[in-house]
Amino acid sequence: MPNTLGIVRVVIPRPLYQAFDYHCPLPLPEAGCRVRVPLGLNSTVVGIIIESGVTSEFEQLKAIESVLDDKPLLDPSLLSLLNWASIYYHHPIGEVLFSALPKRLREGRELSENFSWHLNCDDHEAALVSLKRAHLQRELFQQLQSHSMTEAQLTSLHLSKWRKPMQQLEAKSWVERRKITNDHSTVQDVDHPNQHLIELSEEQNDSLSQLAEWRKSSIQTPALLHGITGSGKTEIYLRAIKPELEAGRQALLMIPEIGLTPQLFQRFCDFFPNQTVVALHSGLNDSQRAQNWQSAQTGEADIVVGTRSSIFCAFKNLGIIIIDEEHDGSFKQQEGFHYHARDLAVKRANQLNIPILLGSATPGLETLLNAERGRYHYLQLKKRPGTRKPPKTSLIDIRSQTLEAGVSRKLLSEVGKQVRDGNQVMLFLNRRGYAPVLLCIQCGWHATCSACNAEMTFHAARHKAICHHCGHQQRIGTACPSCQHPQLTTQGHGTERVEHLLLSHFPDTPVVRVDRDTTSRKGELARKLEIVRSGEPVILIGTQMLTKGHDFPNLTLVGILDIDQALFSTDYRAQEHLAQQIVQVSGRAGRGEKKGHVVLQTSQPQHPMLNQLLTQGYRAVAQQLLQERQAWQYPPFGFQALIRANAPQFEEGLLFLSSLRDDLRVLPEIETGEVSLLGPMPSPMEKRSDRYRYQMLVSANRRSSLHCFLDQLISVLRQKKKSRDLRYILDVDPTNF
Ligand code: ADP
Ligand code: ZN
Ligand code: ZN
Repeated sequence: MPNTLGIVRVVIPRPLYQAFDYHCPLPLPEAGCRVRVPLGLNSTVVGIIIESGVTSEFEQLKAIESVLDDKPLLDPSLLSLLNWASIYYHHPIGEVLFSALPKRLREGRELSENFSWHLNCDDHEAALVSLKRAHLQRELFQQLQSHSMTEAQLTSLHLSKWRKPMQQLEAKSWVERRKITNDHSTVQDVDHPNQHLIELSEEQNDSLSQLAEWRKSSIQTPALLHGITGSGKTEIYLRAIKPELEAGRQALLMIPEIGLTPQLFQRFCDFFPNQTVVALHSGLNDSQRAQNWQSAQTGEADIVVGTRSSIFCAFKNLGIIIIDEEHDGSFKQQEGFHYHARDLAVKRANQLNIPILLGSATPGLETLLNAERGRYHYLQLKKRPGTRKPPKTSLIDIRSQTLEAGVSRKLLSEVGKQVRDGNQVMLFLNRRGYAPVLLCIQCGWHATCSACNAEMTFHAARHKAICHHCGHQQRIGTACPSCQHPQLTTQGHGTERVEHLLLSHFPDTPVVRVDRDTTSRKGELARKLEIVRSGEPVILIGTQMLTKGHDFPNLTLVGILDIDQALFSTDYRAQEHLAQQIVQVSGRAGRGEKKGHVVLQTSQPQHPMLNQLLTQGYRAVAQQLLQERQAWQYPPFGFQALIRANAPQFEEGLLFLSSLRDDLRVLPEIETGEVSLLGPMPSPMEKRSDRYRYQMLVSANRRSSLHCFLDQLISVLRQKKKSRDLRYILDVDPTNF
């Protein structure tokens, strides 16, 4: 080998468990840099160096084509987290590493230069007067009056179309553009211009001083902040972050998928006016994502507020991780690389030895158990601040009630009373569309999806039946598509139907429907929430999108419709999720000065879980559920993985898994009974999107036996013959069956 060349080990974004060695000119780029490498005969691909300066067991190595970064994008600690994740989740390393990067960087594009804008104008008054008609310029000017802004910040704040007005301000020389040098050696002041600061309650102060005390210890233990809804957890987050920023470190706040309301983001910007707060979520376009990701990587951003995948964001100097609503299901990735962002966050904090705070009114059973076993610090906020009280809940037994679109008379009259008193109401129904079943009583036709084993949901306004599993749509006229009978019938009800009902009963009150159908256009959710924030009487009807994080002070009544199905689900996690959902939705009531109450409609008023929840609260239910889990050795006492296989042909996946099961029979963990297999069997929805799906469950009483077994399982799987059409995936710690 000529001594002007070294060897680098590179992973590429393919489902492969190994890395590849390439020659590379000296000086060698460090691990974490991107390179372009040849692949096959005449194609190239972007790769990431995971080791630099290695000796290779192979001869005849190819040379890399080009080096894309002069400094690593992924630092050693992030690389080690990703490597750990690849081993733990038994997922190909290349796919894991690439999932950390935003799309633009995965594609090998260059890093962009970042700028910030500063006001450079002596007479603010006069400038503002002359901008009276230039609405957008004026808005920007006012923002810049409180602090200078970076591109990342401007885009995160949803300041629409800011570039053009900014150029106009620059042209007037009132604003100056500076290149960001990423030199954070001088830490900016972290103070609040908002002198109108909330005075913390005793509980809040206690929690904060405990956190500060624990921060001093040499080993950082995760902390659970179990605070009832409306107890002021966000105030704790803000103040827990503050000292880290003051020390020149960064913060990551992780939130559920649809939990990022502009309101929450603004709260962080307001509290930290001199700091750069950026968002990372699916609502951003590719270039915004890349820009915000990069601003955290270079250290320009001080706080990242992001959803699941932000756990892989690179930071220059991360000082704290906070996970809001840590129990939320959206932290688990359900496609491709099946990771749990909360669990990875705990791992990341552990590797960096930085604090992590998990907050929730309804902590997941795993987290509660960790707190009870002393592995996590445990903080509680049991009260709402000031004189506010948690809402009272009452049950309506719908067996003795007349229902209209699934809503009882009693609840309707309660809604009427509240809006007449000038209050706001929220009805929760976790089913969008008009009705889940559309049928013809003449011939028995019903709208089923041709690609899935599922009914299609009727959407009245769009005159369509839509499959909520694959998106397949069918136009619906008034007559039956099969026998031409002039009228079709619906069964059951979704949010659209309840909206109709509310409009007919309360023609003078705005009815705001919040679900995926009404909020798919950009800015629509924000607009709807703005109507509610005005404080005027409104009736909200919506799905679980309404349950998370919202703080509407004037909301006094929450009605919960149709939870009975979930009470009888066969999934052992259903009760936990239902209890969390009820508590979270209920928690939207009575957050302001007025008292709140919750009405829960059910045909099962005697149900033990419901009763325990209403009389003893979430913690008691969680303890009960934990006991049951322990008796069955279900997680978090036992450990599981699910192997899923699917193919376009009926039962092909089943045959594949059966044969896999035969291969696995000889493994020691099966012979000793340390690991057991259940299945293969059809997945709960056997046919979905024209693929037939099957699964096999692997369970063990010890995590180490499970993982030892999975290592062997992966090598069996990799050698196993399969048709091109068949896909399989391993889901470690599955949350969804
Ligand atoms: P959580 O996240 O625990 O549900 P929030 O942090 O959103 O609760 O707080 C709920 C409401 O109470 C917010 O409007 C917040 O401004 C207010 N709040 C929080 N702490 C205090 C306090 N110490 N005094 C007065 N109001 C408070
Ligand atoms: Zn018919
Ligand atoms: Zn379908």
